[in-house]
Amino acid sequence: MTFESIIGQDRPIRFLTQTLQKRSVPHALLFTGIDGIGKRKTAVAFGMALNCLSPVGVSACGACISCQKMISGSHPDMITVNPEGAFIKINQVRTVARELRFAPLEGNQRFVIINDAQAMNLEASNAILKILEEPPRHTILILTASQTTDLLPTIVSRCQQIGFRPIPYEKVAEALMDLRGLNRKTATTVAVSTQGSLGKALSVDVEAWSLWRSGLLDQISSLSTTSVQPVFAFAESLSRDKGKLADALDLLMTWYRDVLLYKVSPGRIVNKDLMNKIQQVSKGQSISELLGKVEAVNATQTAISRNSNPRLALEVMLIRLCSDDQPSVP
Ligand SMILES: [Zn+2]
Repeated sequence: MTFESIIGQDRPIRFLTQTLQKRSVPHALLFTGIDGIGKRKTAVAFGMALNCLSPVGVSACGACISCQKMISGSHPDMITVNPEGAFIKINQVRTVARELRFAPLEGNQRFVIINDAQAMNLEASNAILKILEEPPRHTILILTASQTTDLLPTIVSRCQQIGFRPIPYEKVAEALMDLRGLNRKTATTVAVSTQGSLGKALSVDVEAWSLWRSGLLDQISSLSTTSVQPVFAFAESLSRDKGKLADALDLLMTWYRDVLLYKVSPGRIVNKDLMNKIQQVSKGQSISELLGKVEAVNATQTAISRNSNPRLALEVMLIRLCSDDQPSVP
């Protein structure tokens, strides 16, 4: 888990290695970006680099006892806090605060990594704020979160923020070919569908995912505004499966984008394995209809990210997606 093993995050790593070279490591860092793009791995690699017993330049060796303990999560100076259930609670932060009263046990620097810091409830956030206001010596805090707006502004302002971007699709696809033995076509489809999240892409069971994708697309194409009951039933079932909802919307976005691209730039289609179906659907729809559908999915993603009622947002979206299928009135 050295810097070299992290894929597609050259900018954050360049910044971190510069702070190591200049010996000006901030006492608090905030890593932002979607899940599965290497924020946690980078935090551990940074901790390893600072405490490595035989560093190579400013990078960790990955082999010494300190590195090995950090990789296995057993280093006493690397404290990791994860949400317990939906939240990071005050007791978890109090336990950390108690440990911070003492000097690091084995390393030069102690690391506190707070994963998914947006899960901190208000009490926990205030307790972290207190630590940030009076940073203990030899201690570096790293918070990870999807975006700064999920955190108290007072926390954000006390951290050096480092933005992690989604990993370029080609790099995710290459990793899938290397690590999962997928062919390029399937690897690229999975990489794009998981939006540049390597963690998500690696966790995909390709066979189950292909079935889920074709099931979802079949259901969408079978809907029609002539019979709204199935539309509402489908909206309800989609909204109930909260774990899959974001994935379903991402899939619909790439699907309608592909159907649109078929008309203007077919080489850029993502779901290349569904070319026949894309061709068939694309023929029956105009560019402006398809732009309206892409916009409908996008509006739903935005509404749900702003805590709108998912079922209602999905009902509106599905009606917009199938409205052109309505037979013209004689
Ligand atoms: Zn080492």
